[in-house]
Amino acid sequence: LSAEGISAGAYGRTGEGWFDAHAMLMLFRKALRAKKIDFITADVTGIERQGDRVSGVGLDNGEVLEAGIVVNAAGPNAGKVAALAGLALPVEPRKRNVFVFEAREKYTDMPLLVDPSGIYVRPEGSVYLAGGAEPEERDGPAAPGDFEVNWQLFEEVIWPVLATRIPAFEAIKPTRAWAGHYDYNTLDQNAVIGPHPEVGNFILANGFSGHGLQQAPGVGKALAELIVHGGYRTVDCSAFGYERLAEGRAFRELNVI
Ligand SMILES: Cc1cc2nc3c(=O)[nH]c(=O)nc-3n(C[C@H](O)[C@H](O)[C@H](O)COP(=O)(O)OP(=O)(O)OC[C@H]3O[C@@H](n4cnc5c(N)ncnc54)[C@H](O)[C@@H]3O)c2cc1C
Repeated sequence: LSAEGISAGAYGRTGEGWFDAHAMLMLFRKALRAKKIDFITADVTGIERQGDRVSGVGLDNGEVLEAGIVVNAAGPNAGKVAALAGLALPVEPRKRNVFVFEAREKYTDMPLLVDPSGIYVRPEGSVYLAGGAEPEERDGPAAPGDFEVNWQLFEEVIWPVLATRIPAFEAIKPTRAWAGHYDYNTLDQNAVIGPHPEVGNFILANGFSGHGLQQAPGVGKALAELIVHGGYRTVDCSAFGYERLAEGRAFRELNVI
């Protein structure tokens, strides 16, 4: 590991820094099914609003669901869903690429490494995952359905940084890659959580800007308490409220990779 250009760092112990996102989602779904929660497969295409209340959602299958409370948890699509209720929410999809590569050296006990450039790498079984440093000049809302991988990013930006930081990564072989959409809050790269100040029964869980997995359990618990008890109990999320958006007051998250 080359420490060139680095004056300080944080070293996480092996196994720290990541978990299996898909397994977590499956565990949540299983727990909800066990509680007999209904899953409906349809797109919300309309939100019914009367003044300062929303009263239901319209689905693309023609059904209308009446609702006392509507929670917007639409990920990268959250800005569009809020607009269905006539509300502005600066959350949009931003394309992010993840690359898988093989290397002769096997660092299975290596922690997640984040370079000052924003490029990250970590082992995943016998291969490695890397990404980060998406080009700012090309950044902007992703077109719906655009999941085409930007291989140039790996060849021209990520690989040279990896090879400089970890010389053994000069000889690596990229094998697979995918692109996804961050749920990007254009004001401050941070979550927007809680009721809309003007439409109190429209609740937001949005704008996680690429760090929503690690926050999901806490946010779910906080919003469940807010809905059931009328206030936050174990996790106070008021700092993430919509009010800051209305005032243009950023609560900036800088550690987004
Ligand atoms: C490449 C990549 C890497 C990431 N890495 C990390 C990481 O390392 N750590 C981390 O914490 N986070 C990471 N994230 C971010 C994380 O995945 C998101 O923040 C998180 O999934 C947000 O969860 P969510 O439930 O709010 O939204 P999502 O998981 O996006 O779910 C939104 C759901 O709403 C549905 N939906 C949207 N519109 C409608 C509609 N009109 N009607 C009905 N349903 C609708 C969608 O189909 C989807 O099922 C990463 C994201 C990407 C793309």
